Amino acid sequence: MKIPFATVVPMHKEIEEELKGAINKVIDDGLFIGGDPVKKFEEDFAQYLGVNYCVGVGNGLEGILLALEAMGVQAGDEVIVPSHTFIATTLPISRLGAKIVFVEPDEFYTIDVNKIEEKITDKTKAIIVVHLYGQCANMEPIMEIAHRHNIKVLEDAAQAHGATYKGRKAGSLGDVAEFSFYPGKNLGCLGDGGCVVTNDQEIADKVRALGNYGSFIKYKHIYKGYNSRLDTMQAAALDVKLKYLDKWNKRRQEVATRYINEIKNPKVILPKVREDNTHVWHVFVVRVENREEFMKYLEDKGIQTLIHYPTAIHKQEAYKELNNEVYPLAEKYAKEVVSLPMYYGLTEEEVSYVIDAINNY
Ligand SMILES: *Cc1c(COP(=O)(O)O)cnc(C)c1O
Repeated sequence: MKIPFATVVPMHKEIEEELKGAINKVIDDGLFIGGDPVKKFEEDFAQYLGVNYCVGVGNGLEGILLALEAMGVQAGDEVIVPSHTFIATTLPISRLGAKIVFVEPDEFYTIDVNKIEEKITDKTKAIIVVHLYGQCANMEPIMEIAHRHNIKVLEDAAQAHGATYKGRKAGSLGDVAEFSFYPGKNLGCLGDGGCVVTNDQEIADKVRALGNYGSFIKYKHIYKGYNSRLDTMQAAALDVKLKYLDKWNKRRQEVATRYINEIKNPKVILPKVREDNTHVWHVFVVRVENREEFMKYLEDKGIQTLIHYPTAIHKQEAYKELNNEVYPLAEKYAKEVVSLPMYYGLTEEEVSYVIDAINNY
C-alpha cells in the first residue's frame, strides 16, 4: 500500500464541476483583481467565522505582516509569540523591526498561558497566538492577560479553519486573526491566498489599504503600502470550497479519533485535545524519540510522514542573533515530532494499515 502524507485530489474530485464552473466564470467575466467573487467570499467567510470583517490578502505571511502593521506594531516594539510554530509567524515581526519574545508551548503545542505574563514589558505591543496543528490556544486566560496589560492579540489561524474554542470559531477569539489559504491548509485555494479577519473596522480598513499600495482611493496614498490581495480566481474557488469545509474537517476528526483510540505503542506519544475545543487536525502530530528510525520504518511500509517543524525558529540561520537563546521545549519538539497521513479521502482500510504498522513498530 502507498499512503501519501496528504493530498487535495479527493476533495477537488468531489466538487470538480462546481470548482471548474466557478473558475470558468471568472475567465468569462474577465476581471481578475477584486470584483464580486472576492467580496462574496469575504462576506461568506466572515459570516462562517462570526466576525464583522474579512479582508483578502496575498498569503498568510502577508496577512500577519499587514495585521501587525495595522495594529500599530513598529520598530522597537516587542511581540510575544510561541517558540514552537512555523517561521511565517515570526518573519513579519522581524520585517517590521520589532523584537520577537518567545514563550514556550504547553502540552497541547500551543502557547503556555502560564509563561506569558513574565515576558510582558512596557514595550510589549502584541501577542501572537498560533492555533497550531488545528487546535485553538487557551484563549480565555490569554485575552484576560492581554486586556489587563492593554495589549492586542493576533490569532495565527493558518492551521485552524473551522476549529472552535468554547463554541466560538478560531479567528473570532482575539482582536485580529489571519488565515492562510495555501493549498495544503484545511481550507486551501489553488495557489497562494490568505485573509485577515476582525471585528475592528479601523483595523480592517487599514489592512485593506495596506494591501492596496496604501490606498483607499485610487492614486491617493496615505500609507507606504504593499500589493497583497486575494486574487479573484482564488476567491471564487474558496467560496465553492468553504461550503464543504465542515464536512472535510469531520472526516479528519474521524481519522484522528481512530488514530487516538487505536494506536497503542508506548514509543509513540499521541496528541491531546483541550476540553471544550474542536480540533480540526490540520496535521496529526505524534512524538517519538528515535524519529529517523520511525519514519524510515513507515516509509518502507509505503507510509509517508513529514515533520512540522524540524528546526526551532531560534536555531534557524535566518535568526543568527537568536541562535544562542535556549528554549528546551521548542528544541525537544523539533527533534521528536512526526506528522502522520491526514487528509480527506483516507479510507478506513488505509487508516487501519497505518495504525497496524505503528502498533507493530
Ligand atoms: C501556513 C502558515 C502560515 C503562512 O501562510 P502562507 O499562506 O504559507 O504564507 C503562517 N503561520 C502558520 C502557523 C502556518 O501554518
